[in-house]
Amino acid sequence: MPSFYPASSEDRFVLVTEVGARDGFQSEAKFIPTEVKAGLINSLIAAGVRSFEATSFVSPRAVPQMADASEVMALIERKPGVRLTALVPNARGAERAAAAKVDMMACFVSASETHCQANLNKSIDGALADFAEFAPIAHKYGIPLRGAVATAFGCPFEGEVSLDNILKIVGTYLQHGARHITLGDTTGMATPPVVTRTVEAIRARYPEAIISLHFHNTRGIGLANVMNGLALGVREYESSFGGLGGCPFAPGATGNICTEDLVYLLHECGYETGIDLDALAGVAREVQAFMGRDLPGQFMKSGPRLKLTSLEGVRRAVG
Ligand code: ZN
Repeated sequence: MPSFYPASSEDRFVLVTEVGARDGFQSEAKFIPTEVKAGLINSLIAAGVRSFEATSFVSPRAVPQMADASEVMALIERKPGVRLTALVPNARGAERAAAAKVDMMACFVSASETHCQANLNKSIDGALADFAEFAPIAHKYGIPLRGAVATAFGCPFEGEVSLDNILKIVGTYLQHGARHITLGDTTGMATPPVVTRTVEAIRARYPEAIISLHFHNTRGIGLANVMNGLALGVREYESSFGGLGGCPFAPGATGNICTEDLVYLLHECGYETGIDLDALAGVAREVQAFMGRDLPGQFMKSGPRLKLTSLEGVRRAVG
């Protein structure tokens, strides 16, 4: 019977990758100043966060929010043991990312042909060919690769995605030296059974893949999917400060699961992340104040379960 909790003291560490500075900010129309992006990452490094999706070396014309990728990287105070990953779409992006000294390059391909065309303006095979072209550049600089599968648990245009597509994409990633595989729930369509069958199919075919799960809370079950991932033995998750991010196909819906809520859950379940949760919540409140609107994260508003409330001034309420 799989357990939600650590199997042993050696099994306690969960790697949390903060994606807010890329995935969260990329859905913002207003340009976020470079110093704010780098400053938040620096605060999070001080809070113990060890892994980031820091920026994206896409074409600045295509994604103006990420036009400052090299500058963001230059302003981050690097620390041993902290991994800064950047998205890379092609050879040109790979050269820029290598010059900016990223620790890992991540490639995205959607498991749905329609989503791949809509998002990247390429077929799945075309996107994989681009990856095969830039992977040697990463190898040349000794930079590890991550392969991400977008819409891995469902596509808003096609419904269920084909497991064969997922296996083909993962197989191509591995063939070109990307052992780190992220399964992205781009539009929040994951449920525990869908995640279980996808993770199990990948493990059966490619046991060498190191799987990371990237959930969205679009339908309110992001952390339930994490619990299921923990029971499957997955020890890497991606999330965004304050739950920042959106879903381009569901206006108004929340995006990424929230980092503080995730870390709270993990610590309560006996996992270690190396992250100071209070400091993390402080950064999330800063992000919320900067954005000037309420963000979906809950822990930064409520605090831990044993934070006691003074009885004075409490209104009587039932229910
Ligand atoms: Zn996301």
